[in-house]
Amino acid sequence: MKIVYTDNNATTQVAPEVLDAMLPFFSQFYGNPSSMHSFGDTADQKIKQAREKVAALIGSAPEEIIFTSCGTESDSTAIRAAILSNPDRKHILTTRVEHPAVKNLCEYFLKKGYRVTFVPVDRKGRLDISFLKKNLTVDTAIASIMWANNESGVIFPIDEISQIVKERGIIFHTDAVQAVGKLPIDVRKVNVDMLSLSGHKIYAPKGVGALYLRKGTKFSPFLIGGHQEGGRRGGTENVASIIGLGKACELARGHLDEQRTRVKGLRDRLETELLKRIPEAMINGDQEHRLPNTTSIGFEYVEGESILLMMDRFGICASSGSACTSGSLEPSHVLRAMGVPFTAAHGSIRFSLSVYNTPEEIDCIIDNLPPIITRLREMSPFWKEAVG
Ligand code: PLP
Repeated sequence: MKIVYTDNNATTQVAPEVLDAMLPFFSQFYGNPSSMHSFGDTADQKIKQAREKVAALIGSAPEEIIFTSCGTESDSTAIRAAILSNPDRKHILTTRVEHPAVKNLCEYFLKKGYRVTFVPVDRKGRLDISFLKKNLTVDTAIASIMWANNESGVIFPIDEISQIVKERGIIFHTDAVQAVGKLPIDVRKVNVDMLSLSGHKIYAPKGVGALYLRKGTKFSPFLIGGHQEGGRRGGTENVASIIGLGKACELARGHLDEQRTRVKGLRDRLETELLKRIPEAMINGDQEHRLPNTTSIGFEYVEGESILLMMDRFGICASSGSACTSGSLEPSHVLRAMGVPFTAAHGSIRFSLSVYNTPEEIDCIIDNLPPIITRLREMSPFWKEAVG
């Protein structure tokens, strides 16, 4: 069975060009970049080039890029660094819809005695900017606000937000794990101090990421050890994956137009056709300011997990809007923060496309999903009650 993979916000395939670039660094050029011989220097030179490619994608200087093991490490490094560098400030500002990489770390600091403000969003997933303004104080060590949401795809106005935060002299971090490679990003034009990105969302392998650290930003490393990454992240570099990330960033620059046009076109067609064919379905999130590859659709009176299982029989991969909390399926914190009705949140499915998806794959979903929903609703007492 052919797989129709539309779960790219969870992870992407490794691009063939990325794999090709990486392979020689496992078996041929396996030197340690810190070694004092030219064999090691080959790896070091390639890391330098990868750093330049990552920097070019986001408009930074190469020295402002720190390689990490993932988006989560980048987020943790940024938030911990801001807190350690500002020991007198005991407040963190973030949002109610962050990825657990930020959300759970902020909750950890809450338990440690920090004050944490979680800025709410409205029904369309848009951030309450006036609430944000009112809650930045002289005690705020960091504001950490994602660029784009992994579930709804909603994009926050990072330009405006970063100005508000920086006018008050507060460190600003953005988790741009879902935005990088899908939207044009230029850190010279926005006032961010730190920005997280992750390899496996942009056709590089899992287990590699990067943190942009604006020159002059107070910093303290999370991993203390050797002198790697300019003393900002100890540990022998994951050479092959870093080279893969560099290649992926180079490819991503070339994909930006395609994301905005072809990928968005496929997403829009999928959405329009599904809404046309399936009654009582709704899009979760602001349709205007949204990642071009993402749609989260709530199908009333069915369970997301049942939809996923039935789509799986046709080889269709997507994700649901639920999280398994203490053995029961709860709508995700993102959909709850948006106030999506429980009946729709429970039946929400996120499709997230890639540059490799084809029109035929979209047709496969359009053909197979409507009868699945009909069948599940026929079995649902809630649906029967709702339609009488
Ligand atoms: N931040 C966002 C918005 C994400 O979507 C993810 C992964 O889904 C992460 C952070 C974590 O990235 P990683 O899986 O590389 O740790």
